[in-house]
Amino acid sequence: MLIRLIPVGEVPAQVIEAILSIVPEVVGAKVRLMPVMQLPAVAFNNFRKQYDAEKVLSVLGSNSAAKFIDHSIPSLFVTDADLYYAGLSFVFGLEDPAASAAIISIARLKPEFYDRHPNMTVLIDRAVKEAIHEIGHYLGFEHCQHSWCVMSFSPSVSDVDNKKREFCKDCRIKAAMRGVHIPG
Ligand SMILES: [Zn+2]
Ligand SMILES: [Zn+2]
Repeated sequence: MLIRLIPVGEVPAQVIEAILSIVPEVVGAKVRLMPVMQLPAVAFNNFRKQYDAEKVLSVLGSNSAAKFIDHSIPSLFVTDADLYYAGLSFVFGLEDPAASAAIISIARLKPEFYDRHPNMTVLIDRAVKEAIHEIGHYLGFEHCQHSWCVMSFSPSVSDVDNKKREFCKDCRIKAAMRGVHIPG
C-alpha cells in the first residue's frame, strides 16, 4: 500500500522525516512525501481560534484529489493548526474513510502547549503514534482497549505517551482476518 504524506502549514521537518522513516516499518506501507499545502481560511473558526477538522479535511481532500492522478491512494495530512471536531473542544486527529484521507494536528502534541519546555523528541514520538493511529483507522482498525496499543483512544497527551507505536496482538489477529498483514 502507498500513503501520501502532505504537510499543511508550518510543520517541523524533523516531524515529517520521522513519519517518513518510522511509519512504513510499523504499518508495512510506503509513504510518499507530497508538496506542502496551506490551511484553508474557510475552515478557521474566529470565535474558537481553531480550525474545523472536518472542513480542513474536506477542502484539502478535494483540492489534493483534484491534483493527484490516482485518487485511490490515501492521504495523511499533518498540520500545526489546532483542530476541533463537532462537540469536542479539540482533536489530535480525524479520518474521513470515504475520502481516503486523515489529518493529525501537532498543536497539542507539543510540550510547550502544556507550559513545558519544547522537546522535539517527545513531539516526534507523539506525532508518529498519532500518524500510525490514523493510518490504522484507514486500514480498518477500530479503537483498542489495550492502553499501550497504538489503536487505543487517546484523549490526552498522557494517553498518547502511555501507548507504544505498535499494534497489539489482538489488533494484528483481527487485521489478519481481514487480509491486512502488519509487519513484526
Ligand atoms: Zn482513533
Ligand atoms: Zn490493539
